[in-house]
Formats: sequence, C-alpha cells, structure tokens
Amino acid sequence: MEKKRDYYEILGVDRNATEEELKSSYRKLAFKYHPDRNPGDKEAEEKFKEAAEAYEVLRDPQKRQLYDQYGHEGLQGTGFSGFRGFDDIFSSFGDIFESFFGFRTEKRRRSQARRGADLQYDLSISFLDAAFGVETQIEVEKMENCPTCEGTGCDPGTTPEDCRYCEGTGHITRVQGFFSIRTTCPSCGGEGRYIPHPCRQCRGQGRVIRKKKVSVRIPAGVDTGSRLRLTGEGESGERGGPPGDLYILIHVEPHEFFKRNNYDVVCQVPISFVQAALGAEITVPTLDGEKVLHIPKGTQSGDVFRFRGEGIPYLKGSGRGDQIIQVAVKTPTRLTKKQESLLREFERLEKQKISSKIKKIFKNGK
Ligand SMILES: [Zn+2]
Ligand SMILES: [Zn+2]
Repeated sequence: MEKKRDYYEILGVDRNATEEELKSSYRKLAFKYHPDRNPGDKEAEEKFKEAAEAYEVLRDPQKRQLYDQYGHEGLQGTGFSGFRGFDDIFSSFGDIFESFFGFRTEKRRRSQARRGADLQYDLSISFLDAAFGVETQIEVEKMENCPTCEGTGCDPGTTPEDCRYCEGTGHITRVQGFFSIRTTCPSCGGEGRYIPHPCRQCRGQGRVIRKKKVSVRIPAGVDTGSRLRLTGEGESGERGGPPGDLYILIHVEPHEFFKRNNYDVVCQVPISFVQAALGAEITVPTLDGEKVLHIPKGTQSGDVFRFRGEGIPYLKGSGRGDQIIQVAVKTPTRLTKKQESLLREFERLEKQKISSKIKKIFKNGK
C-alpha cells in the first residue's frame, strides 16, 4: 500500500486551521476535482477521494485530535477507513455538497449504488480445531440479489420507466419569486425511475433474504475473539453496488484437560506422593496424543514440565508454543492397615533423621 499523505497537506492548510478554513479549502478541492467536471480522469478521482477523506477526519474534533496525536494509525480504532467510492462520499457529504454547489449531484442520486452491509457470524469451534485449523461450512442468512429479476426489481421482460412526475430527473423545481427551489421528487424518492411491473418474488425490492452456505477455512492458532474476514460474502450491494464483507467471530469451546495460555497449552496431571518422591514415568495427554513424561525424584506439587514446540501453532509465522504439564501431588485418603503401618515406620525414620540432624547442629555449634 502507498504511504498516506498528511491530511493537512492534502487540504493545503496549516495544523491550526479553523473549521471554516478547512471547509473553504475542501470546497475548492471538491469543485476542482468533482467527477462531473473530470469524467474518466483517474487522477482527479483519487484527488477527490483523498480530499474527502482528509476533510471527513479533520472536521470531526475527536478524529482530528486522534489524528494530530497519533497520525493515520490513531484512526484505526475508530472504524474509519476512508471512502470506498463516490457514492460513499456523496452519501456522507450530500448536505455539504448541497450547500457548496447549491444542488445535489443528480447523476449520482439516480444511480444510488450502495455497498451491501457487512455481516457478523459467531462461530463456535472445538479446542483442537482452533489449535490445528479446520475447514467448515456455515449457513448465513443474508440479503442477496433476487434471482428472478437479477436485482433489477422488474418482472422479467419489463424495464423501469422514467418517473412521470419528475420526468426522470429525480427532483422537481418550483419557482418562487426570484428563486427556484429544487426538491427531491416525492413520487420516486429521487431515483428518477419507477417500476411499472414489479418482480413478484422480491416485490420490486431487487433483493431477497436467502440462506447461503459459505465455506470457511479456519487457520491453525485462532483463539476466542479472533475475527476472520471473508471479503464480498456480506450482503449484496444495491443497484450494482459492491457486496459487504462477512466477519467470522471465533469462540473456542473449553477442553476437558487443556487450557490455553497464549500459544502454550497447560494441562494438570495428578501423580501419587510415592511417584513424586521416587520419580516415575507417566503418560500425559498432549495435542498430538499421549506422551511419556519422566518425573524426577523429589518432584513437588505444582512443579512444571515443558514439551517445547508442542503447543498451539502460531497464527502468524511458523512454529508452535509449548505444552506445559503441571503436576499435582495427591495425598491418599484410604489406606490399608499394611500401608498405614509402612507409613508410620516411614515417619519414625523421618523423625530419627531430623533429630540426628539437630544433634549435629548443636555439636557443631559448641
Ligand atoms: Zn425480484
Ligand atoms: Zn420522480
């Protein structure tokens, strides 16, 4: 992507410019680069969009402050991402343009292409699917172009006609004294056209609600809160506008044994106090199946062992986090007579060990 130009530079004002200065500077640029004056001129189109974006940000005190402080990055959290096209600009600035030019841009009013809405889909997946990725299908309900009329809203074989009230211009002009006042045509709502024979399936709307199956490839390493964007899978645009995007919001279901800590997988495994004292080989679960873990002599409850690179694959880049095994030493609750007497003997020996140690300390102390 090209580096974005400074908004103040685009509008040709200094950083302390007042609202009035911004507006008048933008007005000049909007005039100069207006698409109606520069038909088919790509460079003018870019300039027109650039100026609109700069003005859209700087006229809003909150966005302007963010921009002053953090530059273009500061606006990323605000949901503002510039304009997608002329229709976006005209619908945002319609009222301003009216005051600039004294009229709305008729051609744009008539086409009214609008981008489809973005959709969000909440998708629950299992812990293991989140770890290794999965390909799945979801069913999304969305507004789509009507298949019968292909989005035109007209009964097949018929076409829209110019609105008779406004003769297809989308507005009506009334003369009052010295002024002529233009208003939006109340009959066609400014579209300049009407549909004499509406399509029966969509009743002339051009769009219908449909269920659509969408394939989703979930990459390895996603976590709850990860958001995937499927470009163009949102609702279809109106009157030739581009479709919106579909956002998949991931929820990862909890796992029986595993917990996730960033890209590490944590798992608690119980061992007996004898295993802890004498050391042992135990079988533990990992993402890739069961594995043997060597527990050294004298292991304490809560001690942690690590299989490097056997955790969750990184979402970006290669490699994986670690598998962490935390042992929990279990105290036995039911002992047989024999076990109990063995433990009492163990305790007696333990006490002897301690008292001889104490004696040693006293001896050395003297
Ligand atoms: Zn239809
Ligand atoms: Zn009309």
